[in-house]
Amino acid sequence: MFHNHSPLIIAGPCSAENRQQVFQIAQALKETGKVDIFRAGIWKPRTMPGTYEGPGESGLLWLEDVQKELDILVATEVATPAHVEKALKHNISILWIGARTSVNPFSVKELAHALSGTDTTVLIKNPINADISLWIGAIERIKQAGIKKIMLVHRGFTSLNPAPYRYDPIWKIPIEIIKRYPDLPLLCDPSHISGNRQYIEQISQKALDLNMKGLMLEVHNDPMRALVDQQQQITPAQFVEIIERLKKRKENSTNQSYLEKLEELRGQIDKIDHEMLHQLASRKEVVTEIAKLKFQNNIGPLQLGRFQKICQERIKWGQSLGLSKEMIEELFTTIHEDAVKYQSDLMKTF
Ligand code: PEP
Ligand code: MN
Repeated sequence: MFHNHSPLIIAGPCSAENRQQVFQIAQALKETGKVDIFRAGIWKPRTMPGTYEGPGESGLLWLEDVQKELDILVATEVATPAHVEKALKHNISILWIGARTSVNPFSVKELAHALSGTDTTVLIKNPINADISLWIGAIERIKQAGIKKIMLVHRGFTSLNPAPYRYDPIWKIPIEIIKRYPDLPLLCDPSHISGNRQYIEQISQKALDLNMKGLMLEVHNDPMRALVDQQQQITPAQFVEIIERLKKRKENSTNQSYLEKLEELRGQIDKIDHEMLHQLASRKEVVTEIAKLKFQNNIGPLQLGRFQKICQERIKWGQSLGLSKEMIEELFTTIHEDAVKYQSDLMKTF
């Protein structure tokens, strides 16, 4: 779409604050030569009332002028049809739907209606809840409105334990989204995931390693005096340092010895996976015997205590083999759920 740079870089303050601030940051970023799109929030969705909610419509004029005078594309957040109408009236090229809006199907539906028939580029941030279907629902609604230029932004999810970050990246969700929408560029927003500038570089690198197509970074001329999101904004100079340190990993190589070695290792993986599937099939045979035994003794298919024991033991065994707790927990939850379902289906046929 805009691919001046790969990865695509969107940068700018969390919120526009005044005309001078907007121009100062936009100018500094333009001079870096590393930015494709300048971002600034005009209407800020704040958790608490009484905190700075952005300049509102007057800020649109500043963005419009930045776009014209500095010849750089600009992006802002829209949350209502009125925002869409005003932003389009001011020729804002790119609109994004924020995490507190994409979470609400009513709002997304209204936005889809307001955007329908326009040629706008729309960025859809993941909903704040870790619910992949909500994100997919938002994407589908915007697609159905006939919007052709869509990009997605991964900005992390609320969770009980996001530490050390402010929002939990739950990487398996964006990975699943890439598989599902290979043609929609997925960008990462390390500023909002991290909540703190010290983690921005590591999250950015991880995003590029996962083959995400770009980054959205919050950059402010004076982060400590920013009216919102102070801890996570970086200066234009820090922005340049981070971008220059990021390593672009290639998705593929044509180097012959690399390809041969990779082929050999993948062969080993195929063999191991094949063996694992045979083991799962043998496990299923034993589950069939268990189902018969339980049925003969009038016992139901699920014993919670057994499941807890399975999990605890497997985690211990797995960890002693260097495997991760989360992975084993997830794996055996799936295996056990499947076994219980299989038993109860089977019992119905006896
Ligand atoms: C933002 O980009 O400034 C913003 C509010 O993002 P999110 O909707 O991801 O919280
Ligand atoms: Mn922000």
